[in-house]
This record gives sequence, C-alpha cells and structure tokens, in this order.
Amino acid sequence: MTQTRHRIRSPRRTCAYVGIAALAIGVTATASAGISSRTHSAAGPVATSVDSALAPCRIATTMGVQMSEGLPTPPGYSRSTGEVRALNLMIDFPDAKGEGSAMDRLAEFFPQTSNWFRTSSYGRLTYRAEAPIRNWLRMPMPFAAYGIGRGSAYEPGYRQLVEHIAQAADPEVDFSRYDLINVLVTPNAGPSALDTVLSVTFSGNGEAPMADGVPLSNTSFVYSRQDDGSGSYRQTGYRVLPHENGHVFGLPDLYTADGGGAVGHWDIMSEDWGANNDLLGWHKWKLGWLDSNQIGCASKSGVTEQVLTPLGVEGGMKLAFVPLTENSGYAVEVRTQTGNDESVCKPGVLIYRVDSQVDTGRGPVTVSDSTTGSGGCTRRPNVHSELSDAPFRPGETFTDPKSGITIAVTSERPDGSFQIRVTRP
Ligand SMILES: [Zn+2]
Repeated sequence: MTQTRHRIRSPRRTCAYVGIAALAIGVTATASAGISSRTHSAAGPVATSVDSALAPCRIATTMGVQMSEGLPTPPGYSRSTGEVRALNLMIDFPDAKGEGSAMDRLAEFFPQTSNWFRTSSYGRLTYRAEAPIRNWLRMPMPFAAYGIGRGSAYEPGYRQLVEHIAQAADPEVDFSRYDLINVLVTPNAGPSALDTVLSVTFSGNGEAPMADGVPLSNTSFVYSRQDDGSGSYRQTGYRVLPHENGHVFGLPDLYTADGGGAVGHWDIMSEDWGANNDLLGWHKWKLGWLDSNQIGCASKSGVTEQVLTPLGVEGGMKLAFVPLTENSGYAVEVRTQTGNDESVCKPGVLIYRVDSQVDTGRGPVTVSDSTTGSGGCTRRPNVHSELSDAPFRPGETFTDPKSGITIAVTSERPDGSFQIRVTRP
C-alpha cells in the first residue's frame, strides 16, 4: 500500500547512463485512427476498453510488485477520470509554526496543479481542489516527535500524524466527500528539499485510519519547497504535487537510486523538479485518458505502419505498443513542445520499454536513447540532459537484436505527426 518517495534531487549526470542500445521497439498499427469520443465515465484508473485487439498489449499487473506498470491498476487507488475531489489541509506544528498564511501555501500549488491535470488528461480529469479549513491546522505534537524522515514507513509516525490530522479537521471536514487528500506541510518543518525531499504518498492504503466512515487511504504529503534557487519556483514549484498525486492514481516512481537516468524528463514520475513535463503515453492509457482507438498494438509478425500525433495535443493516434512478453513491451509515442511538455528540445519519436514486473523506483520504464553519450540538447536546470535528445528522427531506426523487432521513423508531417514502421519477425 505504501509508496515511499526516496526522492533524490535530480543530479546532473553526464556519464552515468548506460545506453540501452539494445532496446528494440516495435510499433503496430491498428486501423482506427479516429478522434477519441470523450467519455467522462467515473471509471477510475482502470482503462475501460476491452478491445480484444489490444489485449496482448495490456501487460498484466504482477503479483508481489508494490506498484506496477501493468493494466489494469488494482483497486484501492483514487479514480483518475471525471471529477476528482481533493481535500487540501495545511498543517503546522508547535515547533514549526506556519509562516505566512495557510492560503498562501495552498496557492503555491493551485490552480497550477488542476491546470496540469486538465492539460495532461485532455480534459478527462477535472481536479477540484478544496480547502474547507482556511488556516493552519496545528498538530498536537512537535514535528520531531513523529519521527518522520526520508523514506519513513507508515507505521508508526505517519499513522499517528494522519490520526491527529483527522481528529483536528473532523469537526469541519466531511472526509467522505473526497477522493484524495493533500497534506501541505508548513515548509519550515523538516530539512530543506535541497538536502532531503520528504514528500511522500501513501496510496491504496486500506489500513489507514478512518474518518467519516472512509479510510484515509490516498494521501499525499508535501514538505519543504522544491526551490533550486534559479528563480523558477513560482512557475515550477507546484510540480511535486502532481507527482505525488500520480501515486494516488497508482503510478510508480520512474526515477531510480541513480536518479533520472532511466526516463529523464519524459514523465513527471521521473523528474518533478525543473521545467514542466508531461506523462508518458503509457501512463495516460493506464489512467484512462486515451481511448482504445488511440492505441495501436503490434503483436503480430509483419510490418505495421502508423501515424502518431504529438502526445501533448488532443486527438488522434497517440501510442503504439509492441509486446515482448506477458509483462513487458516497447511503447512508442511522439513528443513535441506542446501541452505540458515545456522542455522538449528535440521533438520526435520516443521509444521506451515497460516492464510490469519491475517495482516502483527500480526502473519499470527505460527510455531508449537514439544518441547515446551525446550529452543531450538541454542545459535547463533539473532536466536530465543526456536523455533530452533521446527521440528518434526520420531516417533513424530502433533495433532490438534479441527479438528482431525494428521501429523505423519514416517521415515527419507538417502537422507535427510522425509516421513509423514496425517490423517484427
Ligand atoms: Zn514518487
């Protein structure tokens, strides 16, 4: 149930990345390429399509994996489509009293977080942020007494904190009205985020304390400001919250003990410092933000041609998937500087391997770099540089020698879409 955030401030690394040159990607084509018919179902994080053509590409959730990339996301997480109601509570402590107003703390995250989800979900997730208590909620014990540090488990410190939050807020809050809870801790409690990021989410936690008849099972905690001193905090500092809420919706961490070298800046679950970024198309499928007719599944041998439109633009084909096993495959999508993808410096076709047997923080997704060792095309702070130029361009081909799968980018169209050709033996 717990998702612990062992967040490392993303180091700029120029040589630690071991190229994934062996990755092959295949893309499949499916016939349908229509504009999605938007359904505002309250389906939750489970992709609703039972389209049999996609079945081989719906790699399964693996037993024993804490948070898996597999489909469907298990029950217990917050729904990720339709109206999602977020309860925001700003808390402080006797030894760390809130500085400034609690509503100013809230304003560090909103409306940016709601806007981020609207953009990323193509309007399918309507994020309603509410703060029925407009001042700091004082905890009964000093911050230090909860024993909270980086990677702290739920028991006993967080359980006690959640119990105290529920007791303090219950007279004014009906917890049963909300899908998730954001606890916005006063930034002066605990260490600077430059030293240690404490922010964490406990999701799908059926053992959480109850309030108003519901378990407080999907709760994100945000601590000190992720301010790198570059002057961009007002624009980018909120991004820790959509990252933490990603866990509430069932998404795993994509950074590893080595930092952002597996996925770089291509998903907010990999890097949430620095310039804005989007989610991978795989995650959008997992969250129910793509329809089955926007996904191609290249499961059969032969050649498949497909035109993919930029992930940041609503409508059209978004994702091609080439399954390798029941638990893994290659995903293919087009990333350009659109939507939330502010930092893209080399638009093109992004290819990555997804493995549902690899747990959160262990590298369940690995991006294939078309230019291994190049150093990348961005020097923006807190953006993993090496993988910034990972996308494949027309004329380039990704090859997986082991499976014999190739994914070639055949052309770029004036509207920003790319044509690809997947060949699998
Ligand atoms: Zn995380």
